[in-house]
Amino acid sequence: MPTPSSLAYFENLDLGEATKEIIAEYIWIGGTSCDLRSKAKTLPSSVTSPKDLPKWNYDGSSTGQAHGSDSEVILYPQAIFRDPFRGGQNILVICDTYTPKGEPLSTNNRARAAKIFEADEVAPEEPWFGLEQEYTLLQKDINWPLGWPVGGFPAPQGPYYCGVGANKAWGRDIVNAHYKACLYAGVKISGINGEVMPGQWEFQVGPCVGIDAGDHLVCARYILERMTEIANVVLSFDPKPIPTGEWNGAGCHVNYSTKSMRSAGGYELIREAIEKLGLRHKEHIACYGEGNEKRLTGKHETASVHKFSWEVADRGASIRVGRETEADGKGYFEDRRPSANMDPYLVTSMIAGTTLLWHPAGRKEKN
Ligand code: ADP
Ligand code: MN
Ligand code: MN
Ligand code: MN
Repeated sequence: MPTPSSLAYFENLDLGEATKEIIAEYIWIGGTSCDLRSKAKTLPSSVTSPKDLPKWNYDGSSTGQAHGSDSEVILYPQAIFRDPFRGGQNILVICDTYTPKGEPLSTNNRARAAKIFEADEVAPEEPWFGLEQEYTLLQKDINWPLGWPVGGFPAPQGPYYCGVGANKAWGRDIVNAHYKACLYAGVKISGINGEVMPGQWEFQVGPCVGIDAGDHLVCARYILERMTEIANVVLSFDPKPIPTGEWNGAGCHVNYSTKSMRSAGGYELIREAIEKLGLRHKEHIACYGEGNEKRLTGKHETASVHKFSWEVADRGASIRVGRETEADGKGYFEDRRPSANMDPYLVTSMIAGTTLLWHPAGRKEKN
């Protein structure tokens, strides 16, 4: 047990014993898709809905989101999770970002995504997303994966995927701490596994409906950043952390279904949705993460960035349909193209937009 002679004692004080006040950690996306920032605010009492939280602001010139002369960015609270670090009634608050006039910043893909998910053609379809977030843990200061010999390479890939043992899995304490902290927070985390490249791991979020997928993924990423901070290990969402040699990159596969796809006859709609995604391959790739072309080589369980493909059960295709979905004639499919550093609001809303709102030019629209 920590004693008052240690910082941990004070960090773990139960505020509820002394005051009604709580601490809200406001979290937002900074200048790039996985640049997470946060700062804390004292609130007079506990809160259960984001609507009851005050807006706040920050200095956007320090996050690459505003000029110094007009630097204020406004945070709008959008989703609440329990704070696994402070415990008690304290909360994590996922926010999005606006100018003082109330216009979403150019990096605020959440605001645009919310509009798509609210559309009449989209909301009744209850789009589900399951996101598979891969990430790499790096030794601090040398930026070399955890478990890798300094100045050298580990034995070739093969034993590490879902591996166990001191020569196959590195960082499991971080992974497990993150897993339980996410469940505590109320993040819909559905599992974790060790990845193909040593030092690389994955967690899954979902299925979540619509905008929730982005909120839950951002919260899970934030908790992971905090865990790795405690462990003094660097978290990387780089799509290709080791650019040369036979080493897998890091993706964020998006599993997707609509109500109609999950119902009888859904397979036909899955085929149609995949066809539309193929027609807009370039537009999607442009939004699926920076540096993703280094990962989508056609090797290491990826399809080439230049060519769209889909297959049943093939992990070398852009889109994979599960055997079960084919056999059942309904279910979901997996877009394997998004990279680990993608913006989940942008990617999920784009998939919903292309499959539910967009109609190829010159073709007869369905009604
Ligand atoms: P993989 O076999 O590609 O590694 P995972 O098991 O890691 O797949 O992830 C699959 C994800 O798909 C999970 O997050 C799961 O919740 C999600 N999922 C399951 N069913 C559906 C569905 N009908 N629609 C969307 N996502 C789904
Ligand atoms: Mn997976
Ligand atoms: Mn994976
Ligand atoms: Mn997958």
